[in-house]
Amino acid sequence: MAIKHVEEYRDPRIAQKILDDIVKSSTRPIRLMEVCGTHTVSIFRSGIRTILPGNITLLSGPGCPVCVTAQREIDSFIELAKSDDVILVTFGDLMRVPGTVSSLQKERSEGHDIRMVYSAMDALQIAEKNPNKKVVFLGVGFETTAPTIALTLLTAQTKNIGYYFVYSAHKLVPPALTALIENNEVNVDGFILPGHVSIIIGARGYMDFFNRYSIPCVVAGFEPADILQAILELVRQVETNRPVLENSYRRAVTFEGNLKAQKVMADVFEIRDTSWRGIGIIPMSGIKIREEFAAFDAEKVFDFRIPESEDPKGCACGQILCGVKIPPECALYQKACTPENPVGPCMVSSEGTCAAYYRYHRV
Ligand code: SF4
Repeated sequence: MAIKHVEEYRDPRIAQKILDDIVKSSTRPIRLMEVCGTHTVSIFRSGIRTILPGNITLLSGPGCPVCVTAQREIDSFIELAKSDDVILVTFGDLMRVPGTVSSLQKERSEGHDIRMVYSAMDALQIAEKNPNKKVVFLGVGFETTAPTIALTLLTAQTKNIGYYFVYSAHKLVPPALTALIENNEVNVDGFILPGHVSIIIGARGYMDFFNRYSIPCVVAGFEPADILQAILELVRQVETNRPVLENSYRRAVTFEGNLKAQKVMADVFEIRDTSWRGIGIIPMSGIKIREEFAAFDAEKVFDFRIPESEDPKGCACGQILCGVKIPPECALYQKACTPENPVGPCMVSSEGTCAAYYRYHRV
C-alpha cells in the first residue's frame, strides 16, 4: 500500500487495512524486535501490541541510549560532576539514572553544577559563557546524536575554546544487532530497524549484518501505519522464508544515509569496543574521540577515580534490553520500582521499556 501524506500514517482505516493483511499473512508464532526506544513508545502509545494477532510477539530491544549506558559510565559521570570547577552538561534523562551510590540529580542537589540541555550546541554555548569553568558534555546516544556532538568539537577547535570537553559514551546500533543474534537466549525472527539512526547510517549501515545473518530486517518510521507496515513486511518475509533488508521509511531514509553527518563523525571519532548495560562488551560498538582532539576528551583530560560499579540489585534491565524478559517479569516492577522511584534506567528514561509498560500497559 502506497501512503503519500503524513496524515495517512495516522488514519485508522489505513492501519486497519494493514492489520487485516497482517492477520491474513501470518500462520505461525513470530517474534519481532523493535530496536529503537522511540518505536517502543510509539508502539505502546498507539496500542499496536494489543491489536496484533496473538501469534505475533513484539519485543523491545536495546534502543534506549540512557538504558544501555553501562553502570560504570554512569558512575564515571557522577565522579566527573564532583571535579573542581566543572559544569557537567547532559540530556535530561540521565539525571535520574541511579549510579552505584549516587545519581547526577543527587549530586546537583548537593551543590554540584549539573545542567540539562536539549542540544549539544547548547552545551558549547554554556562553555562560551563560562570561560573560567571546565564544561563537560556527556556524549550519550547512538549514531543519531554523535554527529552533532562531533560538530561541537570541531567548532570548539575552530574557536579555540579550550575549556569544553566531551565524554564519549556513544554506542553504535549494527554491532548490537550482531550481539543479540549471537546471544543464544535471544529468540527473534526479525528486526524493526530504527528510523532516526537509519537517517544517519542509511540502509547500507546494516548490509554487513544482514549479509552475515540473513534475518528479516525492515527500516521503519514512527507513525502507527509505518510500524504496522514494517510488521507486515517482516511477517511476509518470515512466512515465505525470504529474508530481505527493506527500507520502509523512504521518505526520510536513503540507502547511503547522511554522508555529511557520517563524515563529521568519522573526522572526530574512531571506533572502539564498549560495554552495554546487561550485554557486556560488544566489539566495535562504541566511538572514542580521535587523538587529534585529545585536548577535548574528558576521559583523557580529567583525572577522576572510577569507582567499583554494581548494577542495581534485583533489576532485570539487562535481560529486558535483550528482549529476554518483559518488565512484569522483574520482581521489582511496579513495587519497589516505579517512575517516581526508579531502580533501573529502563524505568527512568521516557524511551525505557519499563517506563513504557508502566505508562501504557499497566494491569
Ligand atoms: Fe530494572 Fe525497574 Fe525495570 Fe525492574 S522494573 S528491570 S528494576 S528498571
